[in-house]
Amino acid sequence: MNAQRIRLTSTTRRRHPDAVDVARGTRWGNPFDWRMYGLQGAVDAHAAWLAGDGGPDIRHDPQGRAYSRADVLDNLDQLAGRTLACPCPTNRPCHADTLARLVEKAS
Ligand SMILES: [Zn+2]
Repeated sequence: MNAQRIRLTSTTRRRHPDAVDVARGTRWGNPFDWRMYGLQGAVDAHAAWLAGDGGPDIRHDPQGRAYSRADVLDNLDQLAGRTLACPCPTNRPCHADTLARLVEKAS
C-alpha cells in the first residue's frame, strides 16, 4: 500500500494526527543534511545508503544523532498506507519520497 508525503507544519499535524513524522531526529530521518549535500544530493545520498551503497549501517547527522539502515529497512511495513510528514516543502526533493518508494516496492 502506498505511503504519501505531506509537509510537516503545526497545521498539518492537527489535520493529520495519524501522519508519521519522518523528519531528522526520528528513526526515519535523513542523516545526510541538505546544508552539506544540497537538496537533491542529500536525498540521493540517503537513497544510496538505504540501497547499501552509502557506507556503514549506522550514520550520524550533523547533530550526532544515529540512524540505522537495518532499523529503517526492517520496519518499513510500519509506513505502509501511512502519510509521511517531513518539514520539506512538497515541491522539493525529500527523503520521504524514497521511503514511500521503498514501502511500495516492499509491499
Ligand atoms: Zn524531507
